[in-house]
Amino acid sequence: MKILKTISDNLHWYLKLCSYCHIRRAVWYYVPGTAIACDGCVPRGCTCHEYPLDGKYSNSDPANWTQDLDELGRKFPCVEWRKFYKKNSHPL
Ligand SMILES: [Zn+2]
Ligand SMILES: [Zn+2]
Repeated sequence: MKILKTISDNLHWYLKLCSYCHIRRAVWYYVPGTAIACDGCVPRGCTCHEYPLDGKYSNSDPANWTQDLDELGRKFPCVEWRKFYKKNSHPL
């Protein structure tokens, strides 16, 4: 029963609280570890999201490096943070 399994997985994550504030529902999990975080506590901003404006990765000038922002203008968490619960969809 794959569908039931998916629902129970979602419920399992839904009941988890953030490892940092212990108040809000966690929506992120850290792949190399056991930490989970809500959208407000997840550490944001990481060099893995940075890219050079001029396309030259050899250019180390900090002014040349930028990173994309989410729809709220926030930096993205490190790629090692994955979102496991997104609105009413299945875990990613
Ligand atoms: Zn939190
Ligand atoms: Zn990173």
